[in-house]
Amino acid sequence: MTGEQDRLVPQDWQRGPRYGGAYTFARCPASRDLSRTDVAIVGVPMDMAVMYRSGARFGPRAIRDASGQLRPHHWEPDKIEPPFDKLRVIDYGDIEVFPGYIEQSLDHVRAELAPIVAAGVFPLVLGGDHSTTLPALRAAAARHGRLSLVHFDAHPDFWPGTPERPYHHGTVFRRASEEGLIDPAASVQVGIRGSISAAIIPEARAAGFHLITAEEFARRGVSATLEDIHRIARGPVYVSLDIDSVDPAFAPGTGTPEVAGLTSREIVALVRGLRGLPLAAFDIVEVAPAYDSSEITALLAANLVYEFLLALADGRR
Ligand code: MN
Ligand code: MN
Repeated sequence: MTGEQDRLVPQDWQRGPRYGGAYTFARCPASRDLSRTDVAIVGVPMDMAVMYRSGARFGPRAIRDASGQLRPHHWEPDKIEPPFDKLRVIDYGDIEVFPGYIEQSLDHVRAELAPIVAAGVFPLVLGGDHSTTLPALRAAAARHGRLSLVHFDAHPDFWPGTPERPYHHGTVFRRASEEGLIDPAASVQVGIRGSISAAIIPEARAAGFHLITAEEFARRGVSATLEDIHRIARGPVYVSLDIDSVDPAFAPGTGTPEVAGLTSREIVALVRGLRGLPLAAFDIVEVAPAYDSSEITALLAANLVYEFLLALADGRR
């Protein structure tokens, strides 16, 4: 182990090409030592719960790959301190999953995330399809109690499923509500749209979610939406970012694309606006690189993780 890795900071970005060496997120140290860590970036390469295109199992790899572009400093250095000055961030690697066995995988992901959360380390999860979120919510709620959800998505993911087949990526927040992992009345969903969502929007609203459709968001804008989020999400807050919240023009590499979504600039502004919330966990899901072009989607996802780290660092003075 080198002295540089010992300090738990990203490798010097000026030493060696940024596309070389181990593929960790933003060249953060590959480690599973939770004793001197603030944030663990964890990959969950799982996509057997999708209803349309598969491929999000390669999401963690694509996001890490695209993160080679990131420098440790922010592009507005006078305004924002770099996150790695305040947060010790490790790349924990990927959690093992069992392709074809959804329930065994969900159980295993929860069991693997539990010690990270129990150690007081902030879990930053790279999915995986959106079923990744259910075990992460289970692990986070076991420590923090019932969570507020801040959820960016084209879809409410509130389908009931059936008693025989309760788990797919569109039932996550129905199960989470039933299990008492999240409080819908303290939860916000942003970017909802499309024909798939239409039939389930009334049920999500009836359950208590503050649901902002993509059309409502376009009308009201970033600031008013952030005001809603800060008023409603009382915390501890779980942030779940489905990349299909963003328009396919800016994020084509995903399994269930829906037109007329958020721009990349808007989602960056929304993630920046999360600073100040009592944050408990974050995930970014549904990045499917096989449908991507020129790494548009993976690069956006890597930058959103970075922006989230900035928001998290802001709360740790
Ligand atoms: Mn989703
Ligand atoms: Mn979605």
